[in-house]
Amino acid sequence: MRLFTDATIITNDAEDRVIEGGCIGVEDETITYVGLPESAPPAVEERISLPHRVILPGQILAHTHLYSFLARGLSPSRAPADFVDVLEHLWWRLDQAMDLEDVYWSAMGGALSALLCGTTTIIDHHASPSCIGGSLDQIARALGHIGIRGLLSYEITDRHGHRGALEGVEENLRGFALAAQRPGWLAARTGLHASFTLDDRTLDTVAERCSKGVHVHVAEDAADVSRTRERYGEEILPRLVRRGLLTAESILVHGVHLSGPDLTAIARADAFLVHNPRSNMNNGVGAADLAACAKEGVRLALGTDGMGSDPVPEMMAAMLLLRHEHRDPSAGWNLVKDMYCKGNPALASRAFGLTLGRLEVGAAADLVVRRYEPPTPLTADNWWGHQLFGLGDAPVDRVVAGGRELVRGGEPVELDAGRIWSACRDRARGLWARW
Ligand SMILES: [Zn+2]
Repeated sequence: MRLFTDATIITNDAEDRVIEGGCIGVEDETITYVGLPESAPPAVEERISLPHRVILPGQILAHTHLYSFLARGLSPSRAPADFVDVLEHLWWRLDQAMDLEDVYWSAMGGALSALLCGTTTIIDHHASPSCIGGSLDQIARALGHIGIRGLLSYEITDRHGHRGALEGVEENLRGFALAAQRPGWLAARTGLHASFTLDDRTLDTVAERCSKGVHVHVAEDAADVSRTRERYGEEILPRLVRRGLLTAESILVHGVHLSGPDLTAIARADAFLVHNPRSNMNNGVGAADLAACAKEGVRLALGTDGMGSDPVPEMMAAMLLLRHEHRDPSAGWNLVKDMYCKGNPALASRAFGLTLGRLEVGAAADLVVRRYEPPTPLTADNWWGHQLFGLGDAPVDRVVAGGRELVRGGEPVELDAGRIWSACRDRARGLWARW
């Protein structure tokens, strides 16, 4: 057993403990001990002393788009008029310009930046309509090289005709096959872009051929609601429910414009709804009614929707948005903590078939170690306040995924980060020239 010791441990388990001078024992890919060093089993092969450090569970990102990584610094030639214009003018031109090498390097860059900020599990939603077949292989390959966990989904859509949609179906089937080859490290869900770009016959094919657990943007903007109604004569949620596509395995994203009965259906299905407040504010689409979601018992989780690979700023944004919206200085404190600290681990644990996001015996050994000497008392009752106002921003010292130390002293242990960033810049130059 390896023992990470002399640190403050924030367990985020059922007891939600803070253990000062605590330690974590790791054997192979699993946590085998959490507690004080004097009670640790004697068979310790390696002792790693981490004074002035806090150990937290590896971070989990409940929804993102690794393909957007190479867009950093890319400036659209004009200001978008509305949300659909953002899609048409920026994202749908960018994803169409990508080839398989771009897919690989955007995933490498996105996964490396995730790793360096302590994120060890990513729920990805991918689109590359000019190279659909094999694109999830590239993402799986990149995640394997970086060493973190990832859920694969290809965004099925009729934007490029029915043939493109069917290629998306095939790619998702490939995603499930890839996930079966690396259980615990890769997972898969059936990716759907959004209701307003999915024809009825495509959804019928998905229901017939794919896993019923879908990963889909839902009512992100009012246009998804109105266009779905105009094109298909039906509402978004009933289209999924009627085909059996709303299940406990489903991951719905955004949910800004959902009705009360929609929320009831999501809660009843035990599906997850992923909130991405910075993306919602950036696109000016509004925000999900989290209080109504919580009241209905909807399982909530937190994503970034491609705005970086770090859930920490998203936590603060979620809380500030609630307070701003409701003109209430107490809104969101517990809701956001539950959304990230309970929701993300529950979503990821269900998807990967492992205990993730909790430091407890039997859980996956995914850890982030931050350099943080608390300037005020740090206890089980107030650690969330430290997380929001200092600990979350404290420098990452080490990152461990599945027992393997990937980052030490803030730098990758085995990877040449400079070479990866350089390759990303080269790919971005070419991609931007075609964009
Ligand atoms: Zn998204």
